[in-house]
Amino acid sequence: MKPGPFEYHAPHTVADVTALLAEHGDECKPLAGGQSLVPMLALRLTGFPHLVDLNRVDGLSGVERSNGTLVIGAITRQRVLERDPQIAEAVPLLARAAPLIGHFQIRNRGTVGGSLAHADPASELPAVALALGATFDVAGPNGTRSIAAADFFTGTWSTALEPDEIVTAVSFPVRGERTGSAIHEMARRHGDFAIAGAVANMSLDAAGRVSAAAISLFGVASTPVRATGAEAALVGAAPADINTLEIGRLALADQEPTDDIHATGPQRARIAAHVTGIVVARALEEAGR
Ligand SMILES: Cc1cc2nc3c(=O)[nH]c(=O)nc-3n(C[C@H](O)[C@H](O)[C@H](O)COP(=O)(O)OP(=O)(O)OC[C@H]3O[C@@H](n4cnc5c(N)ncnc54)[C@H](O)[C@@H]3O)c2cc1C
Repeated sequence: MKPGPFEYHAPHTVADVTALLAEHGDECKPLAGGQSLVPMLALRLTGFPHLVDLNRVDGLSGVERSNGTLVIGAITRQRVLERDPQIAEAVPLLARAAPLIGHFQIRNRGTVGGSLAHADPASELPAVALALGATFDVAGPNGTRSIAAADFFTGTWSTALEPDEIVTAVSFPVRGERTGSAIHEMARRHGDFAIAGAVANMSLDAAGRVSAAAISLFGVASTPVRATGAEAALVGAAPADINTLEIGRLALADQEPTDDIHATGPQRARIAAHVTGIVVARALEEAGR
C-alpha cells in the first residue's frame, strides 16, 4: 500500500519546524529517519496531511562531549552510536545497545531522537536513556525546555512532548570510575524487536561495594521501567554476595507484562527476569575490573 497524500515540508531551522507544527497541529508530524513513521503511513495505520522533514535542519546532528556529558543531536543516525569511538569510550551502553536495533540498514537511516520520540516500549534506547538518567532538550514555538528521561515516556508510543515540540538533542552522563554497564534482550530473530530486555548500570565504591545501581526493563510494560526494588537491594552489597537470579526475580516482582502474539505475559516476565540477572552480573564484573 502507499501512504495517503500529504504535503511535504523541508525547513532549515528549528524555529521553522516548530512554527509548522504549531500551524498544522494534529495534522502534522515530524519525519526523521522514517523507519517507524513511513511503514506506519504506508500501512495506513496512521496518516497526516503534513510531514515536516527534520533531515535538512541545521544543528540537529552530531556528538559533543563537555563537562561530563555527552550530547547527541536528535537527527544523529543510530549507526553512529555503534561506530563512533568517542561514544564507545564515553557512554559504552549506547554502543552496546545500537547493534540490537533492527538491522544495519535501519540504523543507517533511523535516528537517536526518532527512536526516543517514537517511544516503543520494546525499544532499546529509551531503556538506556532511563537507566542512565538522560536529559532531553526540547524546542517548541515558545522556546526550549529540558525533560528528564524519567518524565519523558508516558505510554506506548507516547511521550511528554507537546504536538508542536521536537527533541533537538539528548544528554547522557559520561561513564564514571568503577562503573560497568550492560544490555541484553531476547528476540525471536536477530533484528526483531525484543520480547523483553534489560539494562544495568552499576558503580562500586572504594571498598568494592555497590554504591549506585540502575536497572531498566523494556518490553514488559507500556514504557521502559526502572526496577527500583532490585536496585535498592543491590546498593551496599558486595558483588560476591549478590544472587543475580534473585535480583532478576525481584526486578519483575511488581510488573505484570501482558500477552501478545510473541509471548504470554508470564513468559515475558521470566525472560525479563533472566536477562536482568545477566546484565547485573555483566555490569558488576565490568565495574570491578
Ligand atoms: C524491520 C524493523 C525493525 C526494527 N527493529 C527495531 C528494534 O529492534 N529496536 C528499536 O528500537 N527500533 C527498531 N526499529 C525502529 C527504528 O529504530 C526506528 O528508526 C525508530 O523507531 C524511529 O526512528 P526514526 O528516526 O526512523 O523516526 P521516524 O520513523 O521518522 O519517526 C518516528 C516517530 O518519532 C517522531 N519523531 C522523530 N524524530 C523526532 C524528534 N526529533 N522530535 C520529535 N518527534 C520525533 C516522528 O514524528 C514519528 O512519530 C525497527 C524498524 C524496522 C522497520
